[in-house]
Order: sequence, then structure tokens, then C-alpha cells
Amino acid sequence: MTTKGNISVHTENIFPIIKKFLYSDHEIFLRELVSNAVDATQKIKTLSVSGEAKGELGDLKITIKLNTENKTLHIIDNGIGMTEDEVGKYINQLAFSSAEEFLEKYKDKGAQVIGHFGLGFYSAFMVAHTVELHTLSYKENASAVKWSCDGSTTYEIGASDRTQRGTEIILHFAEDSLEFNDSSRIRGILTKYCKFLPVEIEFEEKVINNPAPLWTKSPSECKTEDYEQFYKELYPFAETPLFWIHLNVDYPFKLTGILYFPKVKTDFDLQKNKIQLYSNQVFVTDSVQDIVPEFLMLLHGVIDSPDIPLNVSRSYLQSDGNVKKINSHITKKVADKLDEIFRADRKAFEDKWESIGLFVKYGIVTDEKFYEKANKFCLLQNTEKQLFTIEEYKEKIAAAQTDKDGKLVVLYTNDAIAHDSFCKSVQKRGYDVLLMDNPIDNHFISNIEYKIENTTWKRVDSETVDKLIDKDEKKESVLSEAEQTSLKETFEHQFGAMGKFKFETNALATDDHFLTLTKPEWERRMMDMQRMQGNSMFGAFPESWNVVVNTNHDLARKILKIETTEKTAVLQQAFDLARLSQNLLHGEELTNFIHRNYEQLK
Ligand code: ADP
Repeated sequence: MTTKGNISVHTENIFPIIKKFLYSDHEIFLRELVSNAVDATQKIKTLSVSGEAKGELGDLKITIKLNTENKTLHIIDNGIGMTEDEVGKYINQLAFSSAEEFLEKYKDKGAQVIGHFGLGFYSAFMVAHTVELHTLSYKENASAVKWSCDGSTTYEIGASDRTQRGTEIILHFAEDSLEFNDSSRIRGILTKYCKFLPVEIEFEEKVINNPAPLWTKSPSECKTEDYEQFYKELYPFAETPLFWIHLNVDYPFKLTGILYFPKVKTDFDLQKNKIQLYSNQVFVTDSVQDIVPEFLMLLHGVIDSPDIPLNVSRSYLQSDGNVKKINSHITKKVADKLDEIFRADRKAFEDKWESIGLFVKYGIVTDEKFYEKANKFCLLQNTEKQLFTIEEYKEKIAAAQTDKDGKLVVLYTNDAIAHDSFCKSVQKRGYDVLLMDNPIDNHFISNIEYKIENTTWKRVDSETVDKLIDKDEKKESVLSEAEQTSLKETFEHQFGAMGKFKFETNALATDDHFLTLTKPEWERRMMDMQRMQGNSMFGAFPESWNVVVNTNHDLARKILKIETTEKTAVLQQAFDLARLSQNLLHGEELTNFIHRNYEQLK
């Protein structure tokens, strides 16, 4: 006998609402239904272990069948099934989750129940005009039940001819959802969400999942090849990873997963292979920005935690206690792993630094806790490609690079080729230059400068060599005060109108450049920041350069002596050379410079 009933919902229009608003991605209906099938299968296993379910378990698997002609999709399991009462309770009482009840009852017996996904079963109505359910409970003397609903709030319930334990859900695709009546689409969705579900899932006579992915195993059982193989399974086109961290926490939250450190070549590589978030082996998302610390978003791999609340707003997620704990656990694990490799095999660590450096620096900048550990293994590389820890480097430069106030001055370049002449001139003084050419380095420098007491960081072209590290050793100028003033005025007279150049004289070494173009460190950093943020906080921050005239250079004396026409030519040539060295000679001025120099060759 078939009876009719009303689904106990308070609004008549629940189904259209489900359809429109529940999930932006309609495709997740399949994740929900397959997850239910997995739950039902896990439950029968648990009941069989406890002796509550008698009889053969059989070959536990889930079968998905698509009938494109009838426009139906079938999700079939041989799990616990439902009695008529249960169908009434679980299926009719909207969003009533028996999973919670079940977990409560069986939590000590190791039941793995996927739930907490939201509306679950009813998400079927996002794509189906009618949903049919045939089910036979494991309970002795149970009879098979058929339930169907056409998307209104009335349903029919009656006898079914199902003879096997378990449940079959039949979706009759709605006209506006026929995109799902396509086997490659279904296969695509299954591979996306169900690739690592713990029960075999068969579609078109092929098992589409790996029911025992590596992260569910104990780390002691896993070998290097296994980790590399699993990485390939996740990202078929990626290069072998550098190393990995197997997460395996039971308390106070459940967290498993494997995080890989990729070989980083381009930013593109980073964005392409994202960390995947699972909940009991069901794929949830690959946007993990609120769950993983920001700097570790650069890692690859999987995280599986049933303790991450799903379907909640981002702001809620950020303030969630478990999410915070998971965040700091991952940070700690990553720091410990890096520390371990650094201590065990410094050479191997250094070889990988090019890739690891980015993570470490990013971590230091964004995470105080990470810095506490990372300051021991964060490496600095100089222009000679030698690597030092922060402590080692401080020791290395202490003698030569401490200024008159006892401050340690760290010199760096972000482009050793462009700054070649600046690097050479400071190296001649016995100073060392760090190579800070990573996109994160600007950020890293302002951060680390503040963290390491009593140090200041200066780019090699921010001042002339004697001022970079001011030791209060004044060099005598061979020119008199009056001559120095006259020299400065000569330059100002010829180039002052250009506006952005400020001239000054300084008694440098005779073999230092005659003219040096510098830009003060703070000013350059401000401009860099402005450029990076692409905003106009500093409005039309005027471009300005200091031009330092070396009064001890032979040209200084010569210029004071020669005739006006020759003087104009020499000044122009010297000024152009200085601008060339900072890549500031462009357009017509560069053309004139080249032309003029060819003429002189004739
Ligand atoms: P949830 O899975 O979050 O509990 P659902 O709406 O998806 O919510 O399912 C409601 C309930 O219906 C489940 O908790 C379960 O008891 C029952 N159920 C759904 N699908 C199946 C199935 N394939 N086999 C057995 N029971 C099922």
C-alpha cells in the first residue's frame, strides 16, 4: 500500500530555495549522496563488528549508474538501508541528521561518519525534478521501502521490490540540469569529490577512487616512494617535491594529511597545485585560505579534518577555536621539520634553500611564532652565493660593518648585475653584500630589520660608500671650500632645472666614481611599497636622486680649470654616465649620448 504524506517543513517553497541558494555549485549534490552512501556502508561495517548486524557483509561498494536515455542517475549502496520508520524520520524530517545520533552511540567503536555537510540528501532537488529512494534495512524481517517525491512538499511512501540490503537513490534530472546527464560530467564530479572516499566507488564498471590514500596510513608505514607516488597522484604534472610533512593528530582535534614542499620555479606553479581540504576523505575545497596559515598556502598536498566546520562564513571560520589550533599546529610542524632537516643535513638544506627560502621568509614576515623557530635556520645569501644563518652573518660582518653608533649595517642588492659598480666599490672596502632578489625580500627586509636589534639594512646604491657605513672618518678634500662650492654650482647651473637631481660634494677616494647617483633607503622603500600596493598613498611622491660629486677625483680639478664649452661637454658626459649606471638615461637623451660617443670615435 502506498501512502502519501507531507514533509514537515515550515515553508512551502523550500525546494526552490534549496535549488537557488543552498549551494552555488549544484554539482555537489553528488558529493552529498555518495557521502550518505559511504556513511551507510561504514555503519554496516561497524554494526557487523559489534555483532548487531548478522549475516554476510558482502562486497561493500557503491555503484553509480547513469541512464542517459531515461535521464536518471542511480546511486546504489549495500549499507545499512532504512526501515519505513527510518525513512519517515530521516528523509522526511528535513535536515534531520541521524549521523549525529549514530556517532554519539557508536563513537567508541571507530565509526567514520561523514555528515555536517548541510542539507545532504535534499540537495538532490537541486538537479532532479523527482527523487526516488528504494531501501532495505539490515534489520531482520525488514521489508523494502520505496519513497518518492516530485519536489513539492508531498511525498509517497510504499513497498519496494528491492531484495538486497542497502539503498538506491534515483534522480530524474530536471530539464534545467541536463548538463549532468552526461557520463564525462559525472565522472569529472566523482573524481573531484570522491577520489579518496573510503569505500570503493564504481562508475561505468571502473573503480574511480583510491579508498586508502596515503594520508590515512601511519607515517611509520610510508616510504619515500609512497610519498612521491602519492604526490603524482594528486598533481600528475608537477615535479618531484622537495620533502613532506605527514600530519597525524588525534587530540585535541583530528587532523591528518600530507603537506609537500614543492620545487618552486614560478608563481604559476604555486597557484596551480593547491592544497586540498578533505573531511573524512570527502573532498571539500581547494580554497583553504582560512584554515592554513597564509604563508603555507604555498605548500601542496592534502589536509583532512572532520573538525573544521563546513558551510560557515569565512569570518566565523577565522574565529573558530579548532581552526586556530589547526593553524598553529601546522605552523609548528612545518617549523620543526625545517629545523630537523637543517640540523641533520645542512648541505641538503642549503641545496634546497632556493625553494624553501620563499616559505621561510614569508613565514617570518607573517607569523611571529614561526619566526621564533625560523630565526635559527633562515639563511641569508651573499653575492658570492655563500649562505649564512642570521647569527653567522652578524658575526661575519661585525668587525667591518659596524658604524660609529655601534649599529650593524647590512648591505644588500636586489640586482647584482644592475648594481655591479656599487657592489664592487663596497666590496673594495671589505664589506659584504647580500643578494635579496626574491619578490618577498622587500617585505622581509623591513620586517627582519625590526626583529634583529641594532641593525639597519641599506641597499648598496642608497648612499656613497663612505656614508653607507658612517664611521666618522672624514677624508680630506683636495679642493678648498670655495672650489667645492663652485663645482657644485657648476653642476646645478647646468642640470638644476631638471628638478629631480640634488647635487652635493663629498671627498671620496680618488678611485671612486666621479659622480654617483644614490637614492636614500627610506625614500626608495616608500616608493617600492607604493609600487607594490599600486596605490597612491604618497600621492605624487616626487622622484628624486642625489648626485654626489667626488671632489677627490681628477675630473674635479680639471672641470674647475677648463673653458666653458669644454666644461659643458665634460659635465654632460659625466652626468650621462652616472645616469647610465642607474639605468636612468632614456629616449632622446640616450640617443644623443650614443651619437656623441660615436662621433668621438671617428
Ligand atoms: P546527513 O547525512 O547530514 O545526516 P542527509 O539529509 O544527507 O543528512 O541524510 C539524512 C539521513 O538519512 C542520514 O543521516 C541517514 O540516516 C539517512 N540516509 C541518507 N542516505 C542514506 C543511505 N544511502 N543509506 C542509509 N541511510 C541514509
